[in-house]
Amino acid sequence: MDEEKSKELLFTRIKELESQVHDLEKDLIHDTLTGLKTRAFFEEEARVYLDLTSNVNIGKRKEWFGFKNISFLFFDIDHFKQVNDQYSHAIGDLVLQTVAKAINQSLREGDTVARWGGEEMVASLLGASEVDAKSKAEDIRTKIASLQFSETPDLRLTISIGVVSSTPDIKLEELIKRADQALYFSKQNGRNRVTTFSELPETN
Ligand code: GH3
Ligand code: MG
Ligand code: MG
Repeated sequence: MDEEKSKELLFTRIKELESQVHDLEKDLIHDTLTGLKTRAFFEEEARVYLDLTSNVNIGKRKEWFGFKNISFLFFDIDHFKQVNDQYSHAIGDLVLQTVAKAINQSLREGDTVARWGGEEMVASLLGASEVDAKSKAEDIRTKIASLQFSETPDLRLTISIGVVSSTPDIKLEELIKRADQALYFSKQNGRNRVTTFSELPETN
């Protein structure tokens, strides 16, 4: 093979590899069903944000990050198993896509929405206080409850939400634990409900 030809083949192969790496990166960052970010991406990003809101990084925060705190919304669709059982898995998938879109459209540009797993989603709200985050969660809860699906007109959907806000130097694991408790409270108290961590009874 002449030199020109082998260079050309090598160049083509490099282009193929570049495209494969690009696709792999996209899959690592995006959930294929909903187009939301993946949980792994969300956790990485949240750790960076929490680090920037920590007391150590007060300088950086003032200079360019700008936000003092960050709030998180944890969503879990109510009785989602029944949607699959009563309608179909395909309708279940469509519901997940519709809910993902509704949440995404309710948030601001810099906020991140991710699929946490199954029918659970999560959002980070930069600079939002717990009060702001609760109000946003209420908007989303109402929006989901009023969704109409043309394929299944009798389908009514609700979502339960847990809200937490960062405090300086809190770890992501602790925030997730708090969000879980708030979400659990929403489930235990009738579903289709928003609970913030600070509203929880003192037993925690
Ligand atoms: P709860 O109100 O307590 O949250 O009840 P639930 O039925 O929503 O909760 P459960 O965790 O029992 O059910 C979640 C269901 O989500 C079970 C699983 O089959 C379904 N699921 C998980 N991932 C997908 C998916 O990608 N597509 C579809 N269609 N269903 C999924
Ligand atoms: Mg669940
Ligand atoms: Mg559920």
